[in-house]
Amino acid sequence: MRHDASTKIIATLGPASSTKERIKALVMAGADVFRFNFSHGSHEDHAARLETLRAVEAELGKPIGALMDLQGPKLRVGSFADGRVMLVAGQRFRFDLDPAPGDAARVQLPHKAIIEAAAPGTNLLLDDGKLRVRVEEAGPEHLEVTVVTGGVLSDRKGVNVPDVVLKLSPLTGKDRNDLRFGLDQGFDWVALSFVQRPEDVAEARRLIAGRAAIMAKIEKPAAIETLEGIIELADGVMIARGDLGVEMPPEDVPGLQKRIIRAARSAGKPVVVATQMLESMIKAPSPTRAEASDVATACYDGADALMLSAESAAGDYPVEAVEIMDRIIHRVESDPLYRSYIDAYRAEAHDTEPDAITQAAAQVARTIKAAAIVTYTTSGTTAARASRERPERPILGLITRLGTARKLALLWGVQPVVCEDAYDFDDMIQKAREAAVRAGVARPGQALVITAGHPFGTPGATNMLRIAHVSERDLG
Ligand code: PGA
Ligand code: MN
Repeated sequence: MRHDASTKIIATLGPASSTKERIKALVMAGADVFRFNFSHGSHEDHAARLETLRAVEAELGKPIGALMDLQGPKLRVGSFADGRVMLVAGQRFRFDLDPAPGDAARVQLPHKAIIEAAAPGTNLLLDDGKLRVRVEEAGPEHLEVTVVTGGVLSDRKGVNVPDVVLKLSPLTGKDRNDLRFGLDQGFDWVALSFVQRPEDVAEARRLIAGRAAIMAKIEKPAAIETLEGIIELADGVMIARGDLGVEMPPEDVPGLQKRIIRAARSAGKPVVVATQMLESMIKAPSPTRAEASDVATACYDGADALMLSAESAAGDYPVEAVEIMDRIIHRVESDPLYRSYIDAYRAEAHDTEPDAITQAAAQVARTIKAAAIVTYTTSGTTAARASRERPERPILGLITRLGTARKLALLWGVQPVVCEDAYDFDDMIQKAREAAVRAGVARPGQALVITAGHPFGTPGATNMLRIAHVSERDLG
């Protein structure tokens, strides 16, 4: 089983990846975290897949993260009498609140928030940005528009409004219902779609109340404006390039990707690059050169995890997609240039004892060429701090709770291992040596850099650093 790359892989589950054999094959190929997309599928589908995933996890003995991705306020037009209408550039059209089937002159737009926020000049993008209209006149219950880019508009197609901040809760009724279900099921991470403001994350945080980690999906221009505030309140961010590239011109996306990765890394929060990474592999057994390069770039930039969407959920080659992603990641991480890219940017350590110890651990590990850094982590924060240093050697996170281990599966360089807490100093060293050997990260004679908090088991109290050597006896 793959377990020695630092950059993690998230695979979306779907019809192409629901059987136990398939999920197991995806883990064996390198998937560390699975995404459950709540825009599709019933609660029964998701519950069955999660149960299967947990069975695979128990069988393989590797903590695996489960991420539920809430649909969020995805805006859509209503329906047409004929199922579709042709819009021609230059023509007038009208959106209103009337649920009557649409025709060549009008259609329902069942979101009062858009109608209220739009003003003359506001652009509406339809069907993933394929069509564009400009508002000419905004009434209290309708919008008169001119078609800028024409095309066919059919029933229930998506609407994006990049220019304005909409007065919408990031959590719809469906999201709240899905969230209750997902928290009961025990998902480790919750992804919030179409986050616009830090307050959106705060609202979700109140509802989730610590039962799962929160990932804010950055896919709105408004979110870019308050990026630092969003990152501060979230536990991680996802660069959701699909909608981001509709709401903003595609030429803006690469630079934004780099900026978001840097902002997340400097805040010490994990960052995921998502969407269209190996898009052509939905239908083909190998990627395009441009896709291979895109995966590599995200890796060189220091993203924590790379995500597959339809490639693993609904494609013809789900396992091959993970395998190729894994191969590209390995190749990048063994490139001597990779270190210089990763080290070109360093996160600033906070002036706390745990940060100082963790930063020192990475330094000591480099100097003595230690096989691994072993962190005792109760809440997971010390392992996250170690990950932030992007050390040259793997980070073995020893954790008492499986739930915490699963959350950490998403973090760059962290191999979570469930293990009882140390009860004294000798035990701390012995457990670390055994875990390192079992995880295959250290051989007899090699050094480990161990960090822990004393008194043992106190969350956030990392205050010691110890060097130990693995011996033949640890092979058991
Ligand atoms: P989605 O999010 O697949 O839920 O739309 C990802 C994206 O927009 O890139
Ligand atoms: Mn999206």
